[in-house]
Amino acid sequence: MKEKIYTIPVSDAFAEDCECPLCVLEKKLEDECIEYALGPSLMEPDMRQETNEKGFCKDHFEAMFNSQANRLGLALMIDTFMQEKNKKLQKIFETRAGSLEKDAKAGLMKNISNKISSKQTETDKLLQELVGELDKIEHSCTICSKLEHTMGRYIDVIFYLYFREPDFREIFDSKKGFCLKHLKQLLVSTKKYLNTSETAIFTKKLMDMQITNLERVEKEVDWFTKKFDYRYNDAPWGNSKDAVSRSIQKIRGNCNLK
Ligand SMILES: [Zn+2]
Ligand SMILES: [Zn+2]
Repeated sequence: MKEKIYTIPVSDAFAEDCECPLCVLEKKLEDECIEYALGPSLMEPDMRQETNEKGFCKDHFEAMFNSQANRLGLALMIDTFMQEKNKKLQKIFETRAGSLEKDAKAGLMKNISNKISSKQTETDKLLQELVGELDKIEHSCTICSKLEHTMGRYIDVIFYLYFREPDFREIFDSKKGFCLKHLKQLLVSTKKYLNTSETAIFTKKLMDMQITNLERVEKEVDWFTKKFDYRYNDAPWGNSKDAVSRSIQKIRGNCNLK
């Protein structure tokens, strides 16, 4: 049996009536990560090292700030993160600052010949290192890393249960499909966890379910737009009242729609 810490949240999420059980899992996990980052993690030296190294992406900075919880804790993490990154950028810059002066003074002819020969100048090297470091900062996030890792564990458990627990398979097959982001993640993950026959069985079931439900959501949005036509004034809304938010979620996954 797969570890319980992953199977219980998976079973709970699949018990919910929703557009994407993986979004339910991800949202719960994300909320827990935000709470943890602003709470117990501040006292964990390993976690502080990780937040100093990876920092947070825009979404997770926003989520932590907007939660209004522990502003001091957030400030402490930002403080040490900035100390580390400022030092790094400064070091890269200072190591090559001398070459900048040299390249700046290079004659016009040399500048032209460098452009033509596309030889990498010292200035190019500095730019490459700075952009590389900024890329790292832009694309790393403590919470995103944790989400990626744990969502991978959940998907492993989903495949395991699907082929070993008939009850779970029945529930899975009765769902409304997934958001496109998580549909892709499931399809990509078959390669890692399933053999050829299992992949074929799973993909057939998943795509049948997905296409039916994408059509359903599309029709619900369509009906929403028709309800703005006076001829449909008295017609019932059906499931279309919240079709706009649900369709956005079906396309993009969890969104912070107000
Ligand atoms: Zn999703
Ligand atoms: Zn993030």
